Amino acid sequence: MSRLTEQIQKGRILVSDGAWGTFLHKKGLKPGECPELWNVERSGDIFDIARSYVEAGADMIETNSFGGNRFKLANYGLEDKVYELNKSAAEISRRAAGSEIFVLGSVGPTGKMLITEEVTTDELYEAFKEQSIALEAGGADAIVIETMTDLEEARIAVKAASENTSCEVICTMTFDKDPGTGFHTMMGVSPGEMTQTLVEAGASVIGANCGNGIADMIDIVKEIRQFNSDIPVLIHANAGMPVYSNGETTFPESPSFMAGRVKEIIEAGTNIIGGCCGTTPEHIAKIRRVVRSL
Ligand SMILES: [Zn+2]
Repeated sequence: MSRLTEQIQKGRILVSDGAWGTFLHKKGLKPGECPELWNVERSGDIFDIARSYVEAGADMIETNSFGGNRFKLANYGLEDKVYELNKSAAEISRRAAGSEIFVLGSVGPTGKMLITEEVTTDELYEAFKEQSIALEAGGADAIVIETMTDLEEARIAVKAASENTSCEVICTMTFDKDPGTGFHTMMGVSPGEMTQTLVEAGASVIGANCGNGIADMIDIVKEIRQFNSDIPVLIHANAGMPVYSNGETTFPESPSFMAGRVKEIIEAGTNIIGGCCGTTPEHIAKIRRVVRSL
């Protein structure tokens, strides 16, 4: 199978998968429970999630390894299980994907801050290296570093994944919209700054995930495209901003609503479109239908 970016160079628009976290909670993951432990203890449930996105028509699915770095796993006393939990995560998604669908090994932030010196750049590099190697060993085609807010952490993760695996490396950051100053991550990074730094660091695909519904993601893509017209762009949009009421979180954007903006986000320069928090296989199936019709 040709690699992700080759497909994009042929002019294909690709569809990614939807939320995993929301899905895990629906399946009974309790607050305070380690999601990655389910890769070995409830692998059937993880397989179901992966499979449901394959059946929805996604061209690629992620792995249940977002918090699978040693720092996050240490919160559960599982820092010695990085290899096992990440390899299992990739194996489950690989099994669900078969040979035609890409598997993206999910890598999230460590939760440790470089600016407060609670972690060094070497420690971050080692953590991302260890996780990426395990995801590749389990069968991941690409590594997707996501929900990043610190540009330096993102850059180190891209380097660690690309220098230690033969996977393609995707990196997406999470932006918040400020009516006065526009889009920035929690750590103050703009889409333009991200683009320059991550392309230089060697990312094959960049973009944004989480934090925004599809309308604001269209504006983020336009901003990225002002700085770089070639780099493939991946967007994982939330199903809108979460609404909390009566102890429950819901997401306002329906599958039809999101699908209704897909043409526009592709015209803005998106190459891969999928969902983040609140999106479901139904969202992905509707997005698939629009992409197929274009
Ligand atoms: Zn999200």
